[in-house]
Amino acid sequence: ATVIVAIDGPSGTGKSSTSKAVAAQLGLSYLDTGAQYRAITWWMVSNGIDIEDPSAIAAVAGKPEIVSGTDPSGPTITVDGTDVAGPIRTQEVTSKVSAVSAVPEVRARITELQRSIASGAENGIVVEGRDIGTTVLPDADLKIFLTASPEARAARRSGELKGSDVQATREALLKRDAADSSRKTSPLAKADDAVEVDTSDLTLQQVIECVVTLVEE
Ligand code: C5P
Repeated sequence: ATVIVAIDGPSGTGKSSTSKAVAAQLGLSYLDTGAQYRAITWWMVSNGIDIEDPSAIAAVAGKPEIVSGTDPSGPTITVDGTDVAGPIRTQEVTSKVSAVSAVPEVRARITELQRSIASGAENGIVVEGRDIGTTVLPDADLKIFLTASPEARAARRSGELKGSDVQATREALLKRDAADSSRKTSPLAKADDAVEVDTSDLTLQQVIECVVTLVEE
């Protein structure tokens, strides 16, 4: 039987590490939907599209071809054939991704891509993002909503970004969450039937075990 697992939540909750490990452990595919929004944002920036102008973004939302490789041991992402795994993690893309993601034409396009990847996954898939349980895959077999205190999240993110300042990271992160939570189309939200897991005081291994147990139940 195929298993569809939706894992949503803000950044710094351990979402990506957990999702990848759970997929690998259960032999499922893995899709990082944040990477797709980052990829389309990277394309907009690279092509000089005015990020402040939603209609300019909407007009070209269908242009870039975004391809995601869904092996949890080595996920990939390309835009028009170019590997963008590195460039989508820059501060510039990170600071602009919420604005691009808020444009309904962008969401419609990326959502369609996500549904087709999920339905094509042979054994099933773990899909991580912000609106997977609420909008993209409302019939998922299991929905998880990860949370953590702002302190725990900022500390994790700073650790990942080596040497960056915790206070600045915390502010940027909270600003991005506020934008993602307040947009009109498919905001970051917990689905009514999602299981909420607060990861503040859990190790990554504990969160992975918790989710694997829920899938196997
Ligand atoms: O998960 P990550 O931090 O890489 O996501 C980057 C951004 O992509 C989020 O801040 C959000 O603006 C957008 N996103 C989204 N819907 C998703 C996944 C990510 O709007 N399902």
